[in-house]
Amino acid sequence: QPVTTDMATLTREVQKFARDKKVEIETLKIREEYRREFLGNISHELKTPLFTVQGYLLTLLDGAMDDKAIRKKYLQRAEKGVERLIYIVKDLDLITKLETGDINLALSEFNIVDVVQGVFDLLEMRASKKNISLTFDIKYKPIKVIADQEKIQQVVTNLVMNSIKYGKQGGTTEISIEDLVNNKIIVRVTDNGEGIAKQHIPRLFERFYRVDKSGARSEGGSGLGLAIVKHIIEGHEEKIYVESQFGVGSEFSFTLEKT
Ligand code: ADP
Repeated sequence: QPVTTDMATLTREVQKFARDKKVEIETLKIREEYRREFLGNISHELKTPLFTVQGYLLTLLDGAMDDKAIRKKYLQRAEKGVERLIYIVKDLDLITKLETGDINLALSEFNIVDVVQGVFDLLEMRASKKNISLTFDIKYKPIKVIADQEKIQQVVTNLVMNSIKYGKQGGTTEISIEDLVNNKIIVRVTDNGEGIAKQHIPRLFERFYRVDKSGARSEGGSGLGLAIVKHIIEGHEEKIYVESQFGVGSEFSFTLEKT
């Protein structure tokens, strides 16, 4: 260990040490701020469905339980609240893993048409409940891609779910796959729903960002859906796009690499 005798060198070293410490403290402060904001958002998201469930249970205990018809209705609503809580917790778990890079992509070769068809089959009922006509136009079949199948399925699910949630009664949602140059394909989910005003577009993919801040809408998810989508697609080094016009509709699309 060399002994520093030169005063100028010593001063420089002390200054460098102080600078490094300052950077370290700043980084810790940013992390702490981020952590606080994240926790604040989580408790906010959990509060609404928890209070809903509690409300129905308290009303039941207060006497509503004695009426058979009401009992069933309130229990069903409480169950819906629990279902929503489960969705939120699952999304939180996933976004935490994605944000900390704690997740590896399990790449494999698969047929994207099958994955989209699977999501279509699962969500068709949900769409029809809102009188939304869900269509999947298949021009090419099959289309082999290399990606993490489960995660891409989640991406398609989130996008189609959103188009149903923010779609209008009697509206349409179209899913399509198109070949691009450079051995790429693009998957598009297009709706004629409420659309998104320009000023919100740059922030849409931030976690917990919602256009309708009130959170009062019954169909609201966790506010994490698009953040999850962005992480997954960018994790694949692919691109996610959104085009939307308020009152007209939206189109979300993403690219994948063909084999
Ligand atoms: P949420 O759980 O609120 O749906 P997302 O991250 O999936 O969270 O979406 C963020 C916000 O983007 C939504 O709250 C909604 O305001 C808007 N949004 C997403 N998809 C659509 C769509 N297809 N049409 C209109 N608005 C949408």
